[in-house]
Amino acid sequence: APAVMWFRRDLRLGDNPALRAACDAADGAGVLPLFVLDPKLWGPAGPTRRAYLAASLHALDESLGGHLTVLRGDPVRQVVRAAKEVGATTVHVAADYGPYGVRRDEAVEEALAAEGIELHRLGSPYAVAPGRVRNGSGEGYKVYTPFARAWAEHGWRAPVERPGTRQTWLGVDGRDIPDATPPAGLSLPKAGEKAALERWRAFLEEDVDRYGEDRDRPDLDTTSHMSVHLKWGEIHPRTMLADLAQRRGQGASTYRSELAWREFYADVLHRFPETAREYYKAEFAGMEYDGPGGDLAAWREGRTGYPIVDAGMRQLRATGWIHNRVRMIVASFLVKDLHLEWQHGARHFMHWLVDGDLASNQHGWQWVAGCGTDAAPYFRVFNPTTQGQKFDPKGEYVRRWVEELREVEDQYIHEPAARPDGLPEGYPEPLVDHAEERREALARLDRLKK
Ligand code: FAD
Repeated sequence: APAVMWFRRDLRLGDNPALRAACDAADGAGVLPLFVLDPKLWGPAGPTRRAYLAASLHALDESLGGHLTVLRGDPVRQVVRAAKEVGATTVHVAADYGPYGVRRDEAVEEALAAEGIELHRLGSPYAVAPGRVRNGSGEGYKVYTPFARAWAEHGWRAPVERPGTRQTWLGVDGRDIPDATPPAGLSLPKAGEKAALERWRAFLEEDVDRYGEDRDRPDLDTTSHMSVHLKWGEIHPRTMLADLAQRRGQGASTYRSELAWREFYADVLHRFPETAREYYKAEFAGMEYDGPGGDLAAWREGRTGYPIVDAGMRQLRATGWIHNRVRMIVASFLVKDLHLEWQHGARHFMHWLVDGDLASNQHGWQWVAGCGTDAAPYFRVFNPTTQGQKFDPKGEYVRRWVEELREVEDQYIHEPAARPDGLPEGYPEPLVDHAEERREALARLDRLKK
């Protein structure tokens, strides 16, 4: 009988176990490739995420020979309706482990069952499904290092072949693929499986060997930029891990450990879904924080007077992406220099990041804020000036994103207020005094401990 392949965060044909399973189940009777634009996810998505998803759906449609069905509305209604319309007896998905996805899939499963249709889950957006990596007593891990070791020992299956070219694709009425034009002034990476594979191969050829040394340098910009492709499943991490296994050297092994961070955070969020909003280390809810106001607006707009912070925040608005080192610097600034709760920053990131991923984002924020999974002590406070000097030594990254500072000499690029000629026109004075705010952050921590 016909089958439905319901795509969600797996917008690719290659190495897609659920799609293979749908083709096998249909056994020649045809597969309906379906995507549902769920208002609960589409509604709050920012302009970057919407534009990128739309472009990725267009790319998927093209690789299906124009046969992708996109429906808008509640998945419970739309998936059931589409499955009934093509006479399917099974619907195939890669399992979703996010807090909302789990509830949605249970509701869809129940509604399908009422019609005699089965929901089959196979695979996930991860090499090892969240919840699977456990210690000897059957418990999950709370910190990264032992998780990463156990994750590698657990292992994963080999990549799965893509469906043959003679597969019959079915369709239903209402093919509603959204427009993919990004808002003016926003430049987004190329979307789709083909673009993901090209980017990945280019990274393997050009940059992976230097990844271990260069990954902290935003000026060099040699990290892989694969996060957005992983976010939408345009490539599966298994495919990448299989390629990395063929290579020697520090770069490949460091890269592998970064993929393990992604898997770790997904595992943690799955086991502690409340940490999407709440403090992972609950005691931090009792810390004194300031209320959001003008400082938050200055941070969002990249007008803090700290060049590396402003460069990062402007890069976010221009491209939907920020270099990892700079994500840490701007996050630390919000929490420890402005004394705001991490959730304010996480929300802004989720709105603008093209790779915005609930697990990596919320836990990346909590890690920096000192209330997350890591033993990283709260009293380690990033100094935005010295971080800039160390990781963007000539200020090339800052000059790329902060127009007002383009003419500033190298020696003052991270401290323009110290310039004998004064600040260049239009660039703000430092919003706060870092040394003072650092003391304030530590004092608040002391009070929390008491
Ligand atoms: P590379 O350095 O090439 O890394 C390769 C891949 O490893 C990445 O694509 C990503 O999938 C994974 N990875 C690397 N570092 C991390 C990490 N610290 N945590 C989890 N996965 C990692 N990443 C997201 O994908 N989505 C987010 O919403 C997100 N929000 C973040 C928020 C904060 C405050 C911080 C500090 C980090 C956040 N990260 C997030 C992690 C990291 O910054 C990005 O994955 C990375 O910058 C993406 O660029 P890249 O693909 O070139 O990375």
